[in-house]
Amino acid sequence: MVLKAKKIETQLTHDSCKKYEGAVVPPIFQNSLFTFEDWDAVDRAFDQPDKSFIYSRGKNPTVSIVEEKLATLSGAEKAQLFPSGMAAISAAILYCVNSGDHVISLKNLYGPSNNFLTNYLKPKYNIDTTFVQGDSIDDFKKAIKPNTRLIYLESPSTAVFSLQDIEAVSKLAKSKEIKTIIDNTWATPLYQKPLLMGIDIEIHSCSKYLGGHSDIVAGVLMGKAEIIDSIFKREYAWLGAKIAPIEAWLLLRSLRTLVIRMERHQANAFKIAKFLENHPKIKFVRFPGLKSFPQYELGKRQMTGYSSLMSFQLKTEDIEKVKTFFNCLQLFHKGVSWGGFESMVYAPAIAYIKELNAKQFENMGISINDIRISVGLENADDLIVDLENALNKI
Ligand SMILES: *Cc1c(COP(=O)(O)O)cnc(C)c1O
Repeated sequence: MVLKAKKIETQLTHDSCKKYEGAVVPPIFQNSLFTFEDWDAVDRAFDQPDKSFIYSRGKNPTVSIVEEKLATLSGAEKAQLFPSGMAAISAAILYCVNSGDHVISLKNLYGPSNNFLTNYLKPKYNIDTTFVQGDSIDDFKKAIKPNTRLIYLESPSTAVFSLQDIEAVSKLAKSKEIKTIIDNTWATPLYQKPLLMGIDIEIHSCSKYLGGHSDIVAGVLMGKAEIIDSIFKREYAWLGAKIAPIEAWLLLRSLRTLVIRMERHQANAFKIAKFLENHPKIKFVRFPGLKSFPQYELGKRQMTGYSSLMSFQLKTEDIEKVKTFFNCLQLFHKGVSWGGFESMVYAPAIAYIKELNAKQFENMGISINDIRISVGLENADDLIVDLENALNKI
């Protein structure tokens, strides 16, 4: 009898060694092309391009191993890896829309996704996007037009962690034959399963928790086979943004520890969020796991766990003091991105001060005293001492 592994921890850590001469770690197939016995074998491969290894801009065995694990993890029929989250996002949006179509998305959308819609699809293809707040289903209802073809979600959003009611939005979209995409990077496919709530395409930047070691940039799309096969044949093959086998292999390494990494990220995040929430120099903390979070109930309904990216507002509005706090942190590395083993700190003001006035800033729900932290895998007590020290300096 062949034992069928059922639980996700087993599926993410186990690979058949038989296929690879007993090697416990599957190899990196670092080859551009695959060879065949004869004419008929080539002919058969051409008949099934989405199942055959022909040329590495298409299928590659190392990449396929990871795609199968990610599909299992999210409850998808299929997954397609990309060389970055943005490559996956642009391919998925292009799959859904034609010139002249209308899109609905969120005011607090991840910056580059917003830019792709606003500064690329709009001027080049006359694809208009309405950006809504998104915490009420009415926001979406009101924005629907006869030519709306796509609703693009990000829940929790990574700017202010606002949530959308995923089930309600998918239901609304289905009733109007509108496609839905969600950027599920924050929750990871471990803690939120949007495909099971009716979403058509789930997207992740694998550069965050899925990679988790701050050594790869990658992205993934997941959904029904019909959708993923079509994207594979067109947007993946023709735009040609393919993932490198070594990046897929590193991602395979990362998936083996995803469950335990996320448990630690989550436990550390709770300790730190609670510490910050009770600190007199902090106005509020934005973390969907806190009972004080405005959409706590919705989060509990549609997620089974929380990751460790959060933000908080210092009480001081003196930019010099905000800078002092930021600069005094020693264990939190300073820079962009998140979801790695290492704790990071970032201040949205660093970028926005260059582009926006105070009013625009406010419209995004962000202010100059906002601090964003990604809580890593260090000891939480050490991180709290670091935060405490920096808070004492202001
Ligand atoms: C980082 C990020 C992306 C883009 O992913 P890349 O791998 O950097 O291209 C997309 N969405 C969210 C929410 C992100 O944080």
